[in-house]
Amino acid sequence: MPSYVYFKKQIIPLEQAKLGVMTHALHYGTAAFEGIRGNWNAKKQQLYLFRVKEHYERLLKGCKILNIDLGYSVDDLNRITVEVVRKCGFKEDVYVRPVAYKSTEQMGVRLHNLEADFFVFAFPWGKYLDVEKARVTVTSWRFPKEIARAKLTGLYITNALAKTEAIENGFDEGIMLNADGYVAEGTGENLFLVIDGKLVTPASYDGILMGITRDTVIRLAKEELGVETIERHVDRIELYTAQECFLTGTAAHLTPVAEIDRRKIGNGEIGPITRKLQQLYFDVIQGNNPRYMEWCTPVF
Ligand code: PMP
Repeated sequence: MPSYVYFKKQIIPLEQAKLGVMTHALHYGTAAFEGIRGNWNAKKQQLYLFRVKEHYERLLKGCKILNIDLGYSVDDLNRITVEVVRKCGFKEDVYVRPVAYKSTEQMGVRLHNLEADFFVFAFPWGKYLDVEKARVTVTSWRFPKEIARAKLTGLYITNALAKTEAIENGFDEGIMLNADGYVAEGTGENLFLVIDGKLVTPASYDGILMGITRDTVIRLAKEELGVETIERHVDRIELYTAQECFLTGTAAHLTPVAEIDRRKIGNGEIGPITRKLQQLYFDVIQGNNPRYMEWCTPVF
């Protein structure tokens, strides 16, 4: 089944969408992007897009930073996305990639006096971290705290360096510290620990990307399990002694961590809080929990 893309204000087959080699965003990383999940519910024969509104609010914040005036509202972007995904017709889990980028075909490092455009496409994508439990490592790469909170393409070079270092050293994922040496996040996920029955996660002032899955998990933990989340600096050494650890992200969902830097977390099995949150989370994103249906946009 072919993928489609909304490109230059039209929905066309994905393979027909091409950009010129001089496109500004390609040279200087001047684009903001998102990743949105469509989760297939076989019983309801429905595909649910998860928290589309929040993803587009974050995209528009990225556009503000990049001086991009897209001329689309969150509602416009939402409507276009549903249209593209419906046209694709996939009856399985998909990933949706919207990109707002500096489209002028002209050289020169800057943000001003450049045109911008937007495209969005969808494609089938199953597991991102293809493991039941991840083995992770703290990488040698640190990222600049100031702008890490937006999903800007240029920033992801640090994440790519960290991911490849982790994979080449035999791990499934890498954890990055921020410039102050505190734990920040995975290369495409936020990180949670369980310490003394509470969730602990790096705070916004650690320069992390404020993940939508992170927010979902914090809310589910509080509302459904009565488990509180403490947002604070996390020292690297705390990773080794936590009772449980897991990663959250649109692509990676909620992935338990079994080992960090070759030390077992707890007994190396999926911990009780992680397990409960994982079940709740999957139920919610697949549109099976009536209390959270406002987060799920049906495509068909
Ligand atoms: N941190 C980074 C660096 C990411 O790329 C992502 C994925 N967008 C996340 C955290 C998780 O964010 P979200 O839950 O909104 O996908």
